[in-house]
Amino acid sequence: MTSSIGHWIDGRLDDAPAARTSPVYNPATGVQTAEVALATPDSVVRAVASARAAAPLWGRTPLSRRAAVLFEFRELLHARADELAAIVTAEHGKVLADAAGEVARGLENVEYATGVPHLMKGGYSEQASTGVDVYSIRQPLGVVAGITPFNFPAMVPLWMCANAIACGNAFILKPSEKDPSASLWLARLWQEAGLPDGVFAVLQGDKVAVDGLLEHPDVSAVSFVGSTPIARYIYERGTAAGKRVQALGGAKNHMVVLPDADVEMAADAAVSAGYGAAGERCMAISVVITVGDVGDDLVAAIARRLPAIAVGDGAQPGVEMGPLITAEHRDRVAGYIDQGAEAGARVVVDGRLTPMPAGGFFLGPTLLDGVTPEMTVYRDEIFGPVLGVMRCATFDEALAVVNANPYANGTALFTRDGGAARRFQSEVEVGMVGINVPIPVPVAYYSFGGWKASLFGDSHMYGPEGVNFYTRGKVVTSRWPDPATSAVDLGFPRTR
Ligand code: NAD
Repeated sequence: MTSSIGHWIDGRLDDAPAARTSPVYNPATGVQTAEVALATPDSVVRAVASARAAAPLWGRTPLSRRAAVLFEFRELLHARADELAAIVTAEHGKVLADAAGEVARGLENVEYATGVPHLMKGGYSEQASTGVDVYSIRQPLGVVAGITPFNFPAMVPLWMCANAIACGNAFILKPSEKDPSASLWLARLWQEAGLPDGVFAVLQGDKVAVDGLLEHPDVSAVSFVGSTPIARYIYERGTAAGKRVQALGGAKNHMVVLPDADVEMAADAAVSAGYGAAGERCMAISVVITVGDVGDDLVAAIARRLPAIAVGDGAQPGVEMGPLITAEHRDRVAGYIDQGAEAGARVVVDGRLTPMPAGGFFLGPTLLDGVTPEMTVYRDEIFGPVLGVMRCATFDEALAVVNANPYANGTALFTRDGGAARRFQSEVEVGMVGINVPIPVPVAYYSFGGWKASLFGDSHMYGPEGVNFYTRGKVVTSRWPDPATSAVDLGFPRTR
């Protein structure tokens, strides 16, 4: 029995019959669990009209009242985090502990946004000229949209909507059609927290929904997270339509291990960052670059750990790695194992041979050694549990490889040498850098974003840059003559 998943417009589930739908699966069993509605141009118009009607009043609602809704939403989300994590696991497949971690990282952004009265403060210059003061204020944009990927169905929407709503906008979420249920759960929670109807909407769907939002004149800004080709498309089309756009794209993240690194610590980091969430993270480590003679020991240490990883249904206790999102994606990722071998890489561990439950979209952890820059396993974003190892002779050679890659989301260096770490963080051309930290996702009071093909636009997501993105600045120059010179006697001592 499959259920139907619809849009959330004007504070309620949209009951208009869906002209188009898409199947939703539990990837751990391979069984279809639901049908999600795919928006038509008409559903886009209705969602935007409702958001546009709600935005002005919400934008004028006092900061303290907006913050109170954010505080209430934070309490509810904190209390019911397990419910949301279970929904994420059921449709995405990541293990429950990882889904709980995703919710916790999303919650951080809500906590940050509760500080909106402080975050939206402007500047004030008294007496810029005689009797003249100058001050800046930030105001909401109106209706803003967020288009999100399948791999973080709770966290990425929270990266966007917490700040967008706190800043006084109405927010329309277009989640991935592959795992759409978390978005409706969030919509109900916003309503319970006291958010007025229409300020948070969910438009389920695919390219039709996205194109409708990109073209709609009442949508002022679009935040996107997903693959690089779609990020580029969203950026070009959205900005051509006069919208503010931040579009985060794909990744190929390198972990550089210097000869002085603690090999066991680096191996633990490579395994958790390479295979966590089955490699379906934009900050996953995809390539380990070993420098000097550390390669053999590190490859052996990683390989030793892989048979112990429990692969299976992420809802079951003890499971450490779940399935991939669809059967097609699993087959595509598995295809890279042969491509790597044919191009000359050594298959140290072949995940196709890992014993796994039947039915689900599983692939075991795979390790390739001897990867080189011209191989497709290096050039492409694989987005699965396939970790490549590349051998470099020197620090400079490793740095040059990282900097030549078109993607530049995250990177990490493992070393005991502070000077080497300092040079790396300064010279590496990547947006987020970890020093002995494999997945350096910034905390919510910094901002998240890559460089080059990992980000289109000039604004990173969440944190201070998120607040800037969802508001526009205004500067007021005001002149008030000294009351002592007024034509009317206001009771001030006359100066002349
Ligand atoms: P995707 O690009 O296929 O889809 C992202 C969103 O775009 C979805 O909502 C989808 O419905 C929509 N979309 C898909 N095709 C479209 C089209 N032709 N026209 C308009 N809209 C379209 O990405 P995905 O497979 O859901 O997610 C995985 C990708 O996201 C990976 O490349 C990963 O690196 C990237 N990602 C990046 C970050 C980051 O912060 N940079 C974070 C998470 C995921």
